[in-house]
Amino acid sequence: MLTAEIICVGTELLMGQVLNTNEHYIASRLTEAGVALNHSSVVGDNPERLKELLNLAKGRADVIIMTGGLGPTDDDLTKETVSAAFGKKLVFHPECMEKMVSYLKEAGRNLTKNNEKQAYLPEGCIVIENNNGTAPGCIIEDGLKAAIMLPGPPREMVPMFNETVLPYLKKKSGMVLKSRVLRLFGIGESRAALMCDSLIKNQTNPTIAPYAKEGEVTFRVTASGESEDEAQRMVDEACEKMYEILGEYIYAEGDDNSMARVVVDTLKKKGLTVATAESCTGGLIGKMITEVSGASEVYGFGFITYANEAKMQLLGVKKETLDTFGAVSEETAREMAEGARRASGSDIAVSVTGIAGPGGGTEEKPVGLVYIGVNDKLGTEVFRFVQHGDRERVRNKSALCALDIILKRIR
Ligand code: ATP
Ligand code: MG
Repeated sequence: MLTAEIICVGTELLMGQVLNTNEHYIASRLTEAGVALNHSSVVGDNPERLKELLNLAKGRADVIIMTGGLGPTDDDLTKETVSAAFGKKLVFHPECMEKMVSYLKEAGRNLTKNNEKQAYLPEGCIVIENNNGTAPGCIIEDGLKAAIMLPGPPREMVPMFNETVLPYLKKKSGMVLKSRVLRLFGIGESRAALMCDSLIKNQTNPTIAPYAKEGEVTFRVTASGESEDEAQRMVDEACEKMYEILGEYIYAEGDDNSMARVVVDTLKKKGLTVATAESCTGGLIGKMITEVSGASEVYGFGFITYANEAKMQLLGVKKETLDTFGAVSEETAREMAEGARRASGSDIAVSVTGIAGPGGGTEEKPVGLVYIGVNDKLGTEVFRFVQHGDRERVRNKSALCALDIILKRIR
């Protein structure tokens, strides 16, 4: 497999004044180009240290990808240093100069003496056009090795990377990549990773990469092969093994299939509508559902009933229930769900009542205690959870659990 090394140049990155989003972006896109990232580093605007790092990178990577230091000012030294390391002269590229002049004219700015420096690029390089700034990027090829230079500002770097560098790398790696994204709920990342440890460890192709978003765990399974069929077969085989081990937690596949999207899509498919009755989540479930475009087909009523009066007035929760069992109880959750379905005429209703913390917990009812009720024509069920974490985490996890409960009920 083609190997790569990323070098981000800039003292501001080194000192923590600017977050290194370029590295994050590039690193996340390399697998799909069939490129293995082996090293990544940050170096200040210092030609000596950059040179040292370049020599190291040249010895161990097929492709070096650099960002930053291509600009017109004196501290922008990447091009000079890299060209020297690859034994290339910087030569004037008139077409780059023209492009820069017209770019600046359009932006209502004048060419400065400094800009001229940017039209000097390594001899024989592939020029990467910059439609969002002045500094062009370039690729130096040296036998089978390549050094790719991109400007620092992300709004310039990202389109250049996507339009030119990614296709270049795909072609160079000669690999076809296929991937599937498995989405899990109800299990933590570390436990999920542990369970499929034997698959993840020592695997270079396919690769199984976990990443956890708040409350959800996702595995991206990627294989590279010499043909589409080969890559697809490898991904499918690995996924089959993942399903054997973690199948009960996998609720969907695909990059965009959030819990809420799957809930909305499934409700649509079944021709059902849902209502929510939220206390401690304060509308979070409703927010998640309405983030999905087309949610109006399945969602019309969301009750935020934070106070006892609201639970009684809007949902018909009995005063006696609240007095006897409290707002955070199985009984209240039950009546909230039943009331929400009754008041809205929806096919299914979900309710959440709990103690998000940090205050308000007791020995009997600790912070994180949450009851989630669900009611449909088959009846009512209430689930009890004790969520861990701070207020935001408790609320977020509770909302996701509620979506999961809806999903299990309608599937
Ligand atoms: P310019 O022509 O703008 O000078 P340049 O290629 O010389 O472009 P730098 O001078 O290194 O780029 O960086 C310009 C700005 O771009 C930085 O101040 C920073 O805000 C942003 N930037 C640079 N590198 C990164 C990075 N790795 N991640 C995120 N932002 C970055
Ligand atoms: Mg600069």
